[in-house]
Amino acid sequence: MSGNPSDLAWQQKRALIIGRASPEPSKTHIETVCTGGITEDGEVLRLYPIPLRYLEPSSRYKMWTWAKFDVQKNPSDKRKESYRVRDGSIEILGQITDKAERFAFLEKAMFPDRETLDLRYHEDWTSIGIVEIELLSFSAETTKKDWRKNKPYTQQAHLYVPKKPLEQLPFEMRLKFRCKNNPACKTHESSLIGWEYMEAFRQFRKRYSSPEAAWDEMQKKVKSLFADQKKRAFALLGTHHRYGSWMVAQLYFFDRTLERSLF
Ligand SMILES: [Zn+2]
Repeated sequence: MSGNPSDLAWQQKRALIIGRASPEPSKTHIETVCTGGITEDGEVLRLYPIPLRYLEPSSRYKMWTWAKFDVQKNPSDKRKESYRVRDGSIEILGQITDKAERFAFLEKAMFPDRETLDLRYHEDWTSIGIVEIELLSFSAETTKKDWRKNKPYTQQAHLYVPKKPLEQLPFEMRLKFRCKNNPACKTHESSLIGWEYMEAFRQFRKRYSSPEAAWDEMQKKVKSLFADQKKRAFALLGTHHRYGSWMVAQLYFFDRTLERSLF
């Protein structure tokens, strides 16, 4: 950041939603969802703090929604794409359903590999990017975080708003992958923090007899998506605000033919 005071002024951005992390408990907003977006010009945005489940229905965006946000840089967050969103400012504009159109937007945020993203992070705080990947393994690891200990306010009732249940999964989903377009890639491991994967697991758990059986099914599903030879797989990578480690916020699977239909 330049340190220019005008950076701190509120400005309006129109963005297409390309990723949503699982809700995290928040002291000031009950819970918040860190959201990835991309503007018409290809500027990538990290938008927070957004109490998505508590917003008016007219503000509650989904994946691939176009929406307007009043945003401001946060001086304590150096990451290039990070913006604070003004409470109550989100306005939904529309939804993209066409796969080729979605792909065309994602292409603006693509990097050849994670190695390039690492370099860019150190050069100019680039902290979000999409990379084509190959899956090596998908596993569950017992989580070290415990909200009841680390975030005691999750136990508190809220004065004005009935709280919606927010469950912490007892494990963390982890992806081991290699960059598809870099033969020298030495493989990477990241946690998968996307909201839809947490939700998918909850749905599987309702359907199957035990959490173990649900996890088996979930693993099969994700592996089969990666195994589909007709598709290319991409990961939306973003860094952790404190540790700088890369996490996967979203996976995308696009037909190989899509590229050709575009040009
Ligand atoms: Zn790599």
